[in-house]
Amino acid sequence: MHQKNELSELIAELGVLQDKLIQLQEERDDLEIALTTAIEHGDIIEYELESINARLKDEIGHRQLAESRLKMLVDTLISKQSDLEILVETLIEHGDSVDAQWWKQLCNARQEAEHDSLTGLVNRRGLDQYLEKQWLLHSNLKQPLSLLVCDIDYFKAYNDTFGHLEGDECLKKVATILRQNVTRESDLVARFGGEEFVIILANTPLEGALSCANRIQKMFADAKIPHCKPNDKSYLTVSIGIVSKIPTMDQAFSELFEQGDQLLYLAKRQGRNQICYDAV
Ligand code: GH3
Ligand code: MG
Ligand code: MG
Repeated sequence: MHQKNELSELIAELGVLQDKLIQLQEERDDLEIALTTAIEHGDIIEYELESINARLKDEIGHRQLAESRLKMLVDTLISKQSDLEILVETLIEHGDSVDAQWWKQLCNARQEAEHDSLTGLVNRRGLDQYLEKQWLLHSNLKQPLSLLVCDIDYFKAYNDTFGHLEGDECLKKVATILRQNVTRESDLVARFGGEEFVIILANTPLEGALSCANRIQKMFADAKIPHCKPNDKSYLTVSIGIVSKIPTMDQAFSELFEQGDQLLYLAKRQGRNQICYDAV
């Protein structure tokens, strides 16, 4: 019985060995084919290997370059980060005073951009901005807005006689007289350019504008600023064009300037030192 068992174990083992033998023979055949192929195509394989090698080297080179760049970038970021941290800390610590300084600089820049340096009056830019707002406001409220265009008579002759610097001083005196006549906070005196000035009177009909213009001419008469007009060695005078209207949004505020200008030149044509007006 024991021997019978041993025999059947041996037969099974023999079967396994037979299978292994077949497998080994197949592997040997594969190897033989691979060997023959390798011998036959040795050059091609070698070339392929070399080119794969070269590509690999290339890839390694690129990778090293990228790594060193990345390292540099990280170093820069780290140093910038510390700079930024210092900046943020400073801003947190001194935020209020930095804010105040920026605000002050902004206000100064705005003040300079909207004012005339000689007379200190609002300039053309400031006037445009102010008038645009007033135009909208008055058209909404349906209130009259008055514009006075004042121009010094024969100012070229003034410069020619007394010199440009005296001319500048004269422009300052004119600005002072105009300012003294416009005291409401909602009104504005501007230097429109050269020796031409513009006054805007908020919520003011023609009558109010006329009395303002009369006051101005009276003040010039009282000031007795010496002038040397052609054929007339007397005092400095101004001509004034006035236009009053309740604005509407279908009209541009620049039309008011044009109408005021036309009335001013009518005053010039009529002999100067005059007031010409229109309520439209
Ligand atoms: P009109 O009565 O017709 O207004 O004659 P006008 O001589 O006043 O007018 P015109 O336009 O012929 O001359 C204006 C003068 O104003 C010429 C220019 O030199 C002078 N002017 C303009 N701006 C300034 C300035 O900033 N300073 C000085 N001193 N003169 C100026
Ligand atoms: Mg003039
Ligand atoms: Mg002029």
